[in-house]
Amino acid sequence: MKYVDEFRDGEKARRVAELIHRQVEPDRDYRLMEFCGGHTHAIFRFGVHELMPSNLKFVHGPGCPVCVLPAGRIEAAIQLVESEDIILCTYADLMRVPAGKRDSLHKAKARGADIRMVYSVSDVLAIARDSPEQQVVFFAIGFETTTPPTAVAIQIAEAEGLSNFSVYCNHVQTPPAMEHLLASGEAHINGILGPSHVSTIIGSSAYAACCSHHQIPIVIAGFEPLDVIQSTLMLVRQINEERFEVENQYSRAVSQTGNLKAQTLMRDVFEARPLFEWRGLGLLPDSAIQIRAKYADFDAEKRFGMAEIATADIKGCICPAVLRGLNDPDECKLFATACTPEEPKGACMVSSEGACAAHYSYGRFRDEAGA
Ligand code: SF4
Repeated sequence: MKYVDEFRDGEKARRVAELIHRQVEPDRDYRLMEFCGGHTHAIFRFGVHELMPSNLKFVHGPGCPVCVLPAGRIEAAIQLVESEDIILCTYADLMRVPAGKRDSLHKAKARGADIRMVYSVSDVLAIARDSPEQQVVFFAIGFETTTPPTAVAIQIAEAEGLSNFSVYCNHVQTPPAMEHLLASGEAHINGILGPSHVSTIIGSSAYAACCSHHQIPIVIAGFEPLDVIQSTLMLVRQINEERFEVENQYSRAVSQTGNLKAQTLMRDVFEARPLFEWRGLGLLPDSAIQIRAKYADFDAEKRFGMAEIATADIKGCICPAVLRGLNDPDECKLFATACTPEEPKGACMVSSEGACAAHYSYGRFRDEAGA
């Protein structure tokens, strides 16, 4: 297939991997964080990690939007849909993420709540137009990639006077989370495979401060296996040469400045949220966004007086440590035993970008668990 096969050519992948083997220094450790869950899945699906030298390790990061949403935000949405006569709309991945007390949106739907799975926020606008007597709330999650469509939906709702539409805003921002992770130093990483989709919006220059402040190389990497392998080689070279730059392997989609139109849209509708809790990373300042006062009518938190809820993760689940790059999923006692994609105990096993789901889906565990 044109434009895909070229990036999945096994022979080329082996040749670049050989270059990596030749260039890694034997007495140095290379701990490269794949910040984005899409990279985690590409690495496991295509066996990229198996082509790497033993002193080069891919470390998982917090780049899965479903995984980093704390259980309390899901619990608040369940309380809302069960206490008000509303239609709650969200993406399928979020439905099975465990909230508090072994609950989930899926279970709330089974109890009778009107929760609908949508493919895009324009589906939510259509539901709101078709149900003028009912309040329709969009449970919005995601990094900078999914934020512009939410901004457009709010602008459209305002232009149409769609007074029964609102957004429960859980959009988060990548650079502040990266900054926090690097400042903690816990994961001992010395290179970052930078997010690709997010970077199409914010541009490669958005990471420059992180890069120079923490003296760490960052390579914006595409999602195909050859993208990841080439980006890994670029990181190895920077580490060897003690260069700390933002390089852009994914130049076919990412520019230095990003999508300026999308950035203008986001600035019009959203502003920085002073504090937001991330699963695994805790409360981070200016790491998320909230709806500006001029669009307050479309802010579900304000419209319904939603409260913050603190909810603990399920006992034994080490998602927080996995999201900080401290543990691999198979170091969790529940992995592939009590926790499987069919019966997830944590968000990282649910999401199509979750690290536990990647290890399970493309590892030997699936067969063992079913044996
Ligand atoms: S295997 Fe399941 S319980 Fe363990 S960290 Fe992953 S999601 Fe959490």
